[in-house]
Amino acid sequence: MTERHYDAIVVGGGIAGAVAARDLRAAGLSTVLLEASDRIGGRTYSRTVPGTDVLAEVGGTWIHPDLQPYVMREVDRYGIPTVPQQDAAHTVLLVAGQRITVDDTIRADAETLRRAADELIGRIDPEVPWHRQDIGDLDADLDTVLKDAGAESLSPPLLDLLRGYVAGEMGSGAASILQLLGRTAAAGGVKDRISTDADRFPHGINAIAETVVADGGFVTELSSPVTAVTTSGDDVSVCTATGDTFRASVCIVAVPTNAVRDITFDPPLSPQKREALAQPHIGRGFKVNMVVENLVETVACRGWGVPFLEVLSVDDVGAGRQLLTAFGAHDLTDIDLTDRTQVLAALHEYLPEAHLVAFDSHDWNRDPNYKGTWRTDGPGGVRPFLAAMSEPENRIVFAGADVATSMWQTWVDGAIHSADQAVRWALGRSDRGRE
Ligand SMILES: Cc1cc2nc3c(=O)[nH]c(=O)nc-3n(C[C@H](O)[C@H](O)[C@H](O)COP(=O)(O)OP(=O)(O)OC[C@H]3O[C@@H](n4cnc5c(N)ncnc54)[C@H](O)[C@@H]3O)c2cc1C
Repeated sequence: MTERHYDAIVVGGGIAGAVAARDLRAAGLSTVLLEASDRIGGRTYSRTVPGTDVLAEVGGTWIHPDLQPYVMREVDRYGIPTVPQQDAAHTVLLVAGQRITVDDTIRADAETLRRAADELIGRIDPEVPWHRQDIGDLDADLDTVLKDAGAESLSPPLLDLLRGYVAGEMGSGAASILQLLGRTAAAGGVKDRISTDADRFPHGINAIAETVVADGGFVTELSSPVTAVTTSGDDVSVCTATGDTFRASVCIVAVPTNAVRDITFDPPLSPQKREALAQPHIGRGFKVNMVVENLVETVACRGWGVPFLEVLSVDDVGAGRQLLTAFGAHDLTDIDLTDRTQVLAALHEYLPEAHLVAFDSHDWNRDPNYKGTWRTDGPGGVRPFLAAMSEPENRIVFAGADVATSMWQTWVDGAIHSADQAVRWALGRSDRGRE
């Protein structure tokens, strides 16, 4: 058991925590980063698919270089290599087991839908946090928004494909679609969002957090789960499950919000924050990486009423094999992602010719350091949550993708944006930062 003193403490060694610790240290504050697990990177996690030498991402993967300045700042600063996501040669659309062919009716309805969506999106200012805009009616589920926009009677297969797209991106079939609308606003509209370039990291996205830590000059303590944060006067005291205590004048908590619920705060957080954290968020997304053979083309598959809501080609990994990634939501399917038979059956819904060589996923929903994948709020939940969590209190401020107030909340770019904001606040609050 030890007690150590620093100027600043950062809790959580994901990208947000790593960037915050580096920038506090660069501003002259002695800083310690406390991470619960034995690795840095959090929900960015690159590892080989078991039984192969194929490197894949079990967490965050893609960035949008033209839209995401915060992550690009880090990529450019450290010269981290990226490659463009490849286009798909072959598309499969599936609703409840039936292949959908895009005919003139679907095409015309898709155009109607795009216009309706762009009209709604035009009400969102991507530069202003959601909770500071008068858009409470957009903090609603897909069916409510479709009804309000008069679009609920469009072609049923199109609406089902839209349901699959939304649930896949939000990691839940019951999400508010405000975050999705905001991201589309940030892209400039539906067409631009669809056609926006996406890049990924050929040597692993882990390079971002690992390089920040190597460059940062702060102290990193792995395997140090924080259990309690106590503020008294000018002092924050942070205790870990290993029995160590760390003291500082400011603390940034950059922990997934479903896991923040396990940390005891004394004095207790504000009533608004306690209410915001009272229930876990509803995101139950999942992602599976699969090395497959016997596909002649790159693929992009989307569906509804099937376990995988999206399957897409990520990389040609040689020897006639591809790396595919699938997304779905556990509130819509009880698929066991450790069971080869179930994974293969879900893949065969779209691609019956595919041979599954190996597969991998990380169960973020069961991992005690996360208890969820990316943050997803239910209808009416996005704006009050951000309003509560974005307010610093005492000597503590929250950071991380879950609480980011940019349109890229829940993404890597949002995590870094939130770290910047937390550091700015901490430098103003810390005794050393004001020197
Ligand atoms: C499957 C999946 C796919 C994704 N795809 C994309 C994508 O393509 N593009 C994109 O931009 N984003 C994507 N994301 C989201 C992105 O990965 C996250 O938004 C981002 O990595 C979060 O960073 P963070 O630093 O805010 O939090 P995290 O990375 O979650 O870091 C939080 C850290 O806190 C630690 N911690 C938890 N409890 C404690 C405690 N009590 N004490 C100390 N430490 C603690 C955790 O172990 C973790 O290391 C995806 C996420 C997932 C899960």
